[in-house]
Amino acid sequence: MPTNGATDQSAQTLLTWSRQLLKKHFGYDEFRAGQQRIIESVLAGVDTVGIMPTGGGKSVCYQLPALLHDRLTLVVSPLISLMKDQVDALSRIGIDAAFINSSLTPQEVGERLRRAARGEYMLLYVAPERLESEAFRSVLRTIRPAAIAVDEAHCLSEWGHDFRPSYRAIAPYLDSLDERPVVTAFTATATPEVVADIVSSLRLQSPRVVVTGFDRENLSFSVMVGEDRRAFVQRYLNDHPGQAGIIYAATRREVDNLHDWLKKGGHPVGRYHAGMQDDERNESQERFLYDDVRVMVATNAFGMGIDKSNIRFVIHYNMPKTIESYYQEAGRAGRDGEPGECILLFAGQDIQLQKFLIEQSASTPERRAGELAKLQAIADYCRTTQCLRAYILRYFGDEAPERCDHCGTCLQEFELVDITVAAQQILSCVHRMKERFGMKLVASVLRGSKEKRIGELGLDRLSTYGLMRGRGEKEIIATIQSLVADGYLAVGDGQYPVLRLRAKASGVLRNETHVFQRVVQHREERRYADNALFEVLRAWRRDLARSENVPPYVIFSDATLHELADRQPRDRASMLAVKGVGEAKFAKYGAEILKVLAEHGAANGV
Ligand code: ADP
Ligand code: MG
Ligand code: ZN
Repeated sequence: MPTNGATDQSAQTLLTWSRQLLKKHFGYDEFRAGQQRIIESVLAGVDTVGIMPTGGGKSVCYQLPALLHDRLTLVVSPLISLMKDQVDALSRIGIDAAFINSSLTPQEVGERLRRAARGEYMLLYVAPERLESEAFRSVLRTIRPAAIAVDEAHCLSEWGHDFRPSYRAIAPYLDSLDERPVVTAFTATATPEVVADIVSSLRLQSPRVVVTGFDRENLSFSVMVGEDRRAFVQRYLNDHPGQAGIIYAATRREVDNLHDWLKKGGHPVGRYHAGMQDDERNESQERFLYDDVRVMVATNAFGMGIDKSNIRFVIHYNMPKTIESYYQEAGRAGRDGEPGECILLFAGQDIQLQKFLIEQSASTPERRAGELAKLQAIADYCRTTQCLRAYILRYFGDEAPERCDHCGTCLQEFELVDITVAAQQILSCVHRMKERFGMKLVASVLRGSKEKRIGELGLDRLSTYGLMRGRGEKEIIATIQSLVADGYLAVGDGQYPVLRLRAKASGVLRNETHVFQRVVQHREERRYADNALFEVLRAWRRDLARSENVPPYVIFSDATLHELADRQPRDRASMLAVKGVGEAKFAKYGAEILKVLAEHGAANGV
């Protein structure tokens, strides 16, 4: 891009406008990390890939430039259910938008296309299949969209976790155009294979790739090891009444069992998995979105495109198969920027299950090795004694401070025991066994086992033979796994997972560093103060949402309600200062909110 004075100045002007529009329509004062860079790039006409975590605020990155473009922005989005909510949300903030998908009659489609051709919309949402329709393409030829935004762009990649063949219709469509609109693509998946696939399959032209940090400050992470999972979930739901959350379980059967059990216990739960009938599944999803059922018990089939912003917790009943999918699923908590809790309930047999699934599905030895390595990374997450946030961020290649002060590790939800001596015994045993054997055999040697194989291999003559005599095999293996999780030992990914020393081990063997292991401990429940006025506003929002037939978060996020309850604005100016209240929403709801606040004040003698 040339950087002569004139361009600088117009870029500056566009930026000022963008900020004003952010305030006016969305009600936010500041861009979040990355949003500004992405928007600048789009407005400069540069193809852009935006990679931000779930809840990071990707929609604004194509919705806001749409206000500054002179022609339509076409949005390709994978889920029909989401389009309506997005369009409803946009119309509430004074932005004209529409969607075209299979839920409409041909007459409705025709009407919307005519209105699009007359330039009545700033944004038009379509599913990728629509681009294969010649009728649709020919209308687009007259509309000549100024921009095309591909949302959930990892669906383009077979390496992504939800590849959608229909996404491959986008590239041929783009190729068929004489005049190419600026193309943007958005995803939360940052792996190099996926990014490369997005760039190549959309044939992006010298794209700018903007990757923001992966941190989600409002989320807290914890891992519970060896809990009675059902008892934990029950306790959690009892302690967090009124909060919306998702409980992910690994299999359909597990979902059904847990759902039925919670329901019997009187908890307001719904369920969702791919084995249910379409209409039953849709209804369940709707009820969750509309705050009719508070907690969803689901497999990982649930959640793609769930933009519900007031999810307060995500509990994983089983360990998922990669850190990527864990972070994406857990990241569905707290999109509104309010605190969200992400809890993983871990048990050793989760690893066996995932291994089994990999063995069943992996197509090639390379894929299998790749998947096993990813599985090891999440198993390590479950056992690490490091800060959990730091662990995740480093996994994604971000820098991270040693401690975050609000994850399970930093809040010391478990006790750490000093295992330096046991660690030295194990590490030196691995060394003496020439880094050629797996966990079980290392444990057997340390226990001084009389197994035939040990004698045959001459391992009973090692100086470390029998060093840990009297300890159980399980206990020794748990300690070995903890050493793996904290990076003292590596597990080979071949057919036989062989233990090898890593660089960090030498400090332990030289008696320079102490080593710790976590022991299970029940956590203290952190209770949330609940606020009467917030509840009043929430009830008001729920009734309104019913009558307008939209999910509550389309009207206002929890964050906005909290701020309204805290600040209790009394006029237009003080209400517009609340995050999430822009001019259009003030015009629509301002008077009513002032009334609700005044009534509450009067009832409480203020
Ligand atoms: P993503 O698509 O990246 O998962 P969304 O676009 O759905 O995330 O945005 C998540 C939430 O963040 C929404 O409630 C949105 O209104 C809010 N948000 C977006 N940009 C900002 C901002 N600059 N300041 C405050 N909140 C924002
Ligand atoms: Mg999104
Ligand atoms: Zn931490």
